[in-house]
Amino acid sequence: MESLISKMNIKVRRDCTLAELTSFKVGGPADCVLYPESAEQCASLIAASKASGKYLIFLGNGSNVLGSDKGCRDYILRTDGLSTLSIDKDGIMTVGAGVKGVKASSFAAKSGFSGLEFLYGIPGTVGGAVFMNAGAYDGSMDQVVLRTRYLDDDGNLCTLEGEAHSFGYRKSFFMEHPKFLILETELQLRPGNSEEIFAKIEELQAKRREKQPLEYPSAGSTFKRPEGYFAGKLIQDAGLSGYSIGGAQVSEKHCGFIINANHATGADVRNLISHVKKTVLERFGVELECEVLMLGEE
Ligand SMILES: Cc1cc2nc3c(=O)[nH]c(=O)nc-3n(C[C@H](O)[C@H](O)[C@H](O)COP(=O)(O)OP(=O)(O)OC[C@H]3O[C@@H](n4cnc5c(N)ncnc54)[C@H](O)[C@@H]3O)c2cc1C
Repeated sequence: MESLISKMNIKVRRDCTLAELTSFKVGGPADCVLYPESAEQCASLIAASKASGKYLIFLGNGSNVLGSDKGCRDYILRTDGLSTLSIDKDGIMTVGAGVKGVKASSFAAKSGFSGLEFLYGIPGTVGGAVFMNAGAYDGSMDQVVLRTRYLDDDGNLCTLEGEAHSFGYRKSFFMEHPKFLILETELQLRPGNSEEIFAKIEELQAKRREKQPLEYPSAGSTFKRPEGYFAGKLIQDAGLSGYSIGGAQVSEKHCGFIINANHATGADVRNLISHVKKTVLERFGVELECEVLMLGEE
């Protein structure tokens, strides 16, 4: 791996922490973070890591993960360098996995195409959004994704079309294949008026600012929405608003968010997640499932 990194001149950081790489701002050392800038570099890294018996961990903007206090000894591949962004006259937009949702959404709006307004306020990359089937305010990735190019765990270039993405609520084909790297995706958007699209974006942003504790580090909604309920309401009704363990707290503004209120550790957040799940199960018989994914050594 090391000789490949220097031979291919791949950007690398070795002095980093998971806290710096994630929106929760939690987690210990990240030994080696790679920033490839092409599909070829990614394919070589995947093949070399498999040959060495170590898999790479893929990371977009780190906005849906909780870093562990022990950190991550594996190589982390950040997708920032996968930055393609174009749209044709028929509204087919090609977006690199590392492009931030806010950038893709405003690019579509400026180009006069509608369909990505929901993505503006989701603070991840387009690759992370495909992986998670991210969504908000009645919009979600499954409504717009046409096809996705990715590398399998041998570094082969593959294409996934339409329904093969197996999208469901915060689910996709890629969750079942966490060793596959999303390179870029094609989205089908529809013609619209730029001014109206930006007005819609602002309306959704205002709702977010009103309801969500955006002033604190977090990974967004901690739990998935259980069938027939809202996680935040169950947590509030269980009397857990503002409940804290160490520096982690159930947000008083939106109980569905666990926030890093005061230098939380990964253990603080995990313990709070367990306490919330146990309390809600005991009080209401509802099993909450974590939407946030764990990153690093157990
Ligand atoms: C304030 C706040 C608000 C949020 N609001 C919403 C919301 O309204 N709706 C919503 O759905 N989510 C929301 N989120 C959660 C999060 O932003 C989304 O899940 C987002 O899509 C994650 O993208 P990311 O690039 O940060 O992924 P990361 O957190 O970096 O990664 C998430 C997972 O995707 C995998 N992954 C990332 N990129 C790739 C790739 N290129 N190839 C293969 N695997 C990859 C990672 O390995 C990891 O398993 C919110 C988060 C915050 C902090």
